[in-house]
Amino acid sequence: MSKLDPPSFDFPDFAPGSVWLVGAGPGDPGLLTLLAHHALNHADVIVYDALVDRRVLALRRSDAALDYAGKRGGRPSAQQEDISLRLIRLARTDKRVLRLKGGDPFVFGRGGEEAIALREAGVPFRVVPGITAALGGLAYAGIPATHRDLNQSFAFVSGHNTGGALPQRVDWDALAGAAPTIVVYMALGHLREVADRLIAAGRGADEPAAIVAKATTAEQRVIVTTLAHAAADAEQAAVAAPAMLVVGPAVALRDRMRWFD
Ligand code: SAH
Repeated sequence: MSKLDPPSFDFPDFAPGSVWLVGAGPGDPGLLTLLAHHALNHADVIVYDALVDRRVLALRRSDAALDYAGKRGGRPSAQQEDISLRLIRLARTDKRVLRLKGGDPFVFGRGGEEAIALREAGVPFRVVPGITAALGGLAYAGIPATHRDLNQSFAFVSGHNTGGALPQRVDWDALAGAAPTIVVYMALGHLREVADRLIAAGRGADEPAAIVAKATTAEQRVIVTTLAHAAADAEQAAVAAPAMLVVGPAVALRDRMRWFD
C-alpha cells in the first residue's frame, strides 16, 4: 500500500455458527449502520422483533429465512429464555444468525440477556449498536437531546417493567431533579402515572412535553402538550404504539426546528 492509497474498511466476516445482535434503528431504513446492512446481506436466518420496520427486513438476502420472535396473534411475547435457546440452536446448525432488534439491542432490548446466554453456550457473537428510538425520534421530531442553553444531561427511562407495571426501581424523584430532558420509553400504558410522579417530584405541570409515536416513519406523529395534559391529549389523539414521552424545555424548540413530519 502506498502512502497515497486511502485507508480501506474491511467488513468483519459473518461466520457460520455465529450470532450478530444488531440494532435496526427506530424505523427509517436509512438509519441502519453499514454493519447492520452487511449483516442483512449475509445472514442465513433473521430472528426479529415486532418493532423492526418491514422495509429493513426487505433489505435481507433474498433466500434468508425469517423467524419472528415478537407477539404472535395477541399472545404474550415469546419467552426470553426461548429466544436465547432458539439463537443457540440455530447457531449450532452452522447458520449465520442475525438477531435483529428495533433501535439499539442494549437499550431496553434485552440484548444483554441474549449476549450472556450465547457466551455461556460458547456461541461466538458480535454486537452492532443501532440508533435508539429516543435519539432517532428526537432528531426526527425536531427536539434536540441537548442544547447548551437548556440542559447538560438527559435521561432515558422505561415506563414499563416485565410485569407491565410502572418500574419500582426507577427513582422518579431523583430523575426529575437530575435530568432537564427525560425520555420515557414504553410510556403509553402509564402516561398519567408517569406525569403525576414527575409533577409530584417538582417538575412543572405546564412544562413542555411531547408524545412522539412511530418516529422516523411516514406515520410519525408528534403531539406537543404539557406534562399535566399529556395523558389526556394522547388519549384524545388516539396515539398508537410505539411511542415515547419527552419532557423538558427542549420540547419547545420543535416550533423552530421541525423538519420531518
Ligand atoms: N431497543 C429499542 C427500545 C425497545 S423498547 C430502542 O433502542 O429503541 C420499545 C419502546 O421503544 C416503545 O415502547 C417506544 O417507547 C420506543 N420506540 C421504539 N421505536 C419507536 C418509534 N419508531 N417511535 C417511537 N417510539 C419508539
